[in-house]
Amino acid sequence: MSNRSSINISPSGTLIVVSGPSGAGKTTLVTHVREYFEGLGNPLHFSVSHTTREPRTGEHAGVDYHFVGRDAFLQMANHGEFIEWANVHGHMYGTSVREVEVRLGSGQDVILDIDVQGARQIASNESLKPRSVSVFVFTPSFDELEARIRGRGLNTEEQIQMRLAEARREVEHGIQFYDYVIINDDVEIATDCLKAAIIARKLQSSGAKQTVRELAHRFREDKVG
Ligand code: 5GP
Repeated sequence: MSNRSSINISPSGTLIVVSGPSGAGKTTLVTHVREYFEGLGNPLHFSVSHTTREPRTGEHAGVDYHFVGRDAFLQMANHGEFIEWANVHGHMYGTSVREVEVRLGSGQDVILDIDVQGARQIASNESLKPRSVSVFVFTPSFDELEARIRGRGLNTEEQIQMRLAEARREVEHGIQFYDYVIINDDVEIATDCLKAAIIARKLQSSGAKQTVRELAHRFREDKVG
């Protein structure tokens, strides 16, 4: 059995939800696990969100985000074009149905980097929840988080305070919605933890009833034969 088929026991794709405050290292972890799964011949498609915030230096439209105006965003939301959306740090962010549904249906795995409000919407979505795994990434302490956010030099003091307050709220009220929590104090270990969570989800027999039935059938035939 090749690596690919070993981890592809379920015919439908898995939706991987990764959340955590900015500064927790989500982007690095997601990049590393995507390289790993690409190497296995099982790429994880990164879902590009829509947002009303302005692009930052170095960000590209269609790659980092689909940058849209508030009216266009709200129109999409009203037409049910998002599987989840939320107001984060004063801007709207949403995951479009188009980025996710067709890929999952054709057996591809999709990875989302979204906030706690979005993860909660997916956790209460009866169609998506059974096909998803959610992971909350955090730093070993708030001091460490603050040091990382300041170290990136991307935010004003007001934005830093807003992000720290948001992080506190997420940890206090949000993490119970997640299947797994990863403390990112060592990038290699944290990457292995994220890989483990994804693989564990992909191997669950509940998503692969047909495959499991076929295995059982083959096993019986071998015994008889
Ligand atoms: P940033 O503006 O720093 O790229 O992202 C800010 C926050 O928005 C991050 O916590 C990120 O996870 C979250 N985010 C990005 N895209 C989405 C999305 O489509 N939906 C939701 N709910 N949150 C998102």
